[in-house]
Amino acid sequence: MYDIEKTYKPQSIAELLEALRETGTEGKIIAGGTDVVVKLREGALKAKALIDVSSLKDIQFVRESAGKVEIGAGTTFSDIEEHPLFEGRYRGLKEGAMEVGSPQIRNAGTMGGNICNASPAADIVPPLLALNAKAVIQSRQGLRLQTLEDFFLGKGKVDLDLGEFLYAVEFQQMTKNQGLGFQKLGPRKALAISKICTAVFIELDRDLIIRDIRIANGSLGPNSLREREVEDVLRGEKLTEELKEKARQKFKEVINHRLKGRSGVDFKEEAIRGVFKEALEKSITRALS
Ligand SMILES: Cc1cc2nc3c(=O)[nH]c(=O)nc-3n(C[C@H](O)[C@H](O)[C@H](O)COP(=O)(O)OP(=O)(O)OC[C@H]3O[C@@H](n4cnc5c(N)ncnc54)[C@H](O)[C@@H]3O)c2cc1C
Repeated sequence: MYDIEKTYKPQSIAELLEALRETGTEGKIIAGGTDVVVKLREGALKAKALIDVSSLKDIQFVRESAGKVEIGAGTTFSDIEEHPLFEGRYRGLKEGAMEVGSPQIRNAGTMGGNICNASPAADIVPPLLALNAKAVIQSRQGLRLQTLEDFFLGKGKVDLDLGEFLYAVEFQQMTKNQGLGFQKLGPRKALAISKICTAVFIELDRDLIIRDIRIANGSLGPNSLREREVEDVLRGEKLTEELKEKARQKFKEVINHRLKGRSGVDFKEEAIRGVFKEALEKSITRALS
C-alpha cells in the first residue's frame, strides 16, 4: 500500500530515536494516524517508512510535579477527556479534547499529532497556548524546550529537526484564582474540523482585578494565535461588564482587520465575538470557584 517499504513499532524512547536515525528524511512518525493516513491516501504525503508510536507507553502520560503539569505527546483526546485533573479550573483543556471529531477519532487521535500536524484548526492548541505551554522536544542529544507559540512555523510546519520528536508539553500548575475556558463553533455533527475556537486563561485577584490573561484563537491565522491586543485591554483592569464589552469590541476590530477580504467575514465577526464571550465567561467562573 502506498510507497511504504518498512514499518517500525518502537517500544521505548531509545528504539524510537534509533528508528528516526535509521530512516532519516524517509521516515514519518504515525501516532493515531487520523491525519497521516488521510494524507497518505490523498497522496499529500510521501514516506518510505512509518514509525508507529501508538503503543509507546513512554509518551502516554499526564503528570503533575514541581509546580508543572506535563502531558505526553502520545496522550489521546479520550485520555485527556477522562483524566480527573482536567475538571474544574483546567476544564478548558477537556473541552478542547471533547470537541474533536467523533469518539473513534478521539480514541485514536493524540495531542502530539494534533500539534505536529500544525493545522490552524487544531482544537487542543488554543487551550495549550492560553496556558503558555512549552513543547518538550527530544533527540539523541537530549531534551530541549520551546514555547509552543514558537514551535509553530506556519501552516503544516513545526520546529522539529531531523532526529527529533515531540515528547510532551508542559505548563505551570494553575492556582486557586485562575481559570481556563474554551469554546468552539463548528459543524461538529458533520465531524468537520472547527472553523472557530477560542481559549481564555484568566487570573483574578480578590478585588476582581485581572492579574493576567491569555487569549488564543484557532482558525483565524496560519496557526492558532495569541490575541495580545485584546489581552492588553483586559490586563490590570477591574472586571466589569463595561470592560468585557470593550474587550469584545477590540476582539471584533482585531479579527475584522485580520480577515479583511476573506469571504464569510460578517458571519465570522459575529460568531467570534460570541465564542470569545463564552470562553471568557467560563474562565471567570472557574477562577472564582
Ligand atoms: C473525521 C476527522 C475529524 C477530525 N476532527 C477534528 C476536530 O474536530 N478537531 C481537530 O483538532 N482535529 C480533527 N481531526 C484531525 C486529527 O484527528 C487530529 O489532528 C489528531 O490530533 C491527529 O493526531 P494523530 O495521533 O492521529 O496524528 P497522526 O495522524 O498520527 O500524525 C499527525 C502528524 O503529527 C506527527 N506526529 C505525531 N506524533 C508525533 C510526535 N510525538 N512527534 C513528532 N511528530 C509527531 C506525524 O508525523 C504527522 O505529521 C479530524 C480528523 C478526521 C479524520
